[in-house]
Amino acid sequence: MSGTEVPRYLILTAQGAVLHKEQEVTTMNMEFKRELPNARVVKEMYPVSEAAAARKKENDEEIQKIFRGESDKFVLVIGPCSADREDAVLDYISRLAGLRDRVKDKIVIIPRIYTNKPRTTGDGYKGMLHQPDPNANPDMLKGVIAIRKLHLRALEETGFSCADEMLYPENHPYLSDVLSYVAVGARSVENQQHRLTASGLDIPVGMKNPTGGDLSVMMNAITAAQHPHTFVYTNWEVTSRGNPLAHAILRGSTDRNGLTSANYHYEDLIRLDEIYKKSGLLNPGVIIDTNHANSGKKWDQQPRIAKEILHSMRLSPDVRRLVRGLMTESYLEDGSQKPGEGVYGRSITDPCLGWDKTERLILDIAELL
Ligand code: PEP
Ligand code: MN
Repeated sequence: MSGTEVPRYLILTAQGAVLHKEQEVTTMNMEFKRELPNARVVKEMYPVSEAAAARKKENDEEIQKIFRGESDKFVLVIGPCSADREDAVLDYISRLAGLRDRVKDKIVIIPRIYTNKPRTTGDGYKGMLHQPDPNANPDMLKGVIAIRKLHLRALEETGFSCADEMLYPENHPYLSDVLSYVAVGARSVENQQHRLTASGLDIPVGMKNPTGGDLSVMMNAITAAQHPHTFVYTNWEVTSRGNPLAHAILRGSTDRNGLTSANYHYEDLIRLDEIYKKSGLLNPGVIIDTNHANSGKKWDQQPRIAKEILHSMRLSPDVRRLVRGLMTESYLEDGSQKPGEGVYGRSITDPCLGWDKTERLILDIAELL
């Protein structure tokens, strides 16, 4: 083989992706069904307009000021547990857009469009990325297109650049030009690839406490994300710059007997503030999840929990400084249903607060801030 010849076991595709030779593929315990278009190709197919890109930049600036402590506006990451269908999610986000101006002096709304779902046992609906039609078989090609189209439509039609969970760090490039916030979930926060990828993003990344509640895992994740790293990412050797906007998300915990404990109370917030003060981390801040183990998935408790947090903020300037906002699970209809039941705007994963109660909650928060 001459020095410039491409090794026979590598096949360079038109997109520059490198495929293993067939034998290598077939020795693995999986069927390589088809190569997917990479993020560059999907972005070219579904580009962000100039006006929408400018809008995302404005949103980013406003959101990032809050995480840097330069604005005392309150972040509300709010929306369904899972973005199960495009029509209902866009309907929901349009309603948020209708409220945005009424609260904009106090609240910055970041809609949740959660397109990939971690599952406790790995089974069940894994989100729009896997199943763009929740009642059909997984289709990852349709999935990568569906999640981009949904985020893109939200941005183009409502001006919201949204939040998603970064469940699969390698997939972030498909959405990197439309997202203004990402969360690393409770089941992923101890994972090195999530932490290193977070260190290379230029938007705020919320690190959730793990399901068992160990705050040191969350703080270690924030430390890792705030530092620069060299690693392998999408087949490249990359060096990240470190992300000073990585911060905490408290979501409550579940013990070995399955009992949930909250971590949104006054004492929890004072404790987190003390941990942050000792840590030397940049931009200490927390978003508090009002559902999941904080509510024990009693979705209708979310307004009470939100108000308790606002009360704690009034009691302590340290807590006021630390709490950057809330994460709330909300959709058009109260509660949840099984996939296949087909009620428009009702969650098929975690139970959510319905629209009327959501509207009330957002207006109440603006009033109480
Ligand atoms: C979610 O935000 O819907 C979620 C899965 O959260 P967590 O990682 O806290 O369980
Ligand atoms: Mn959820």
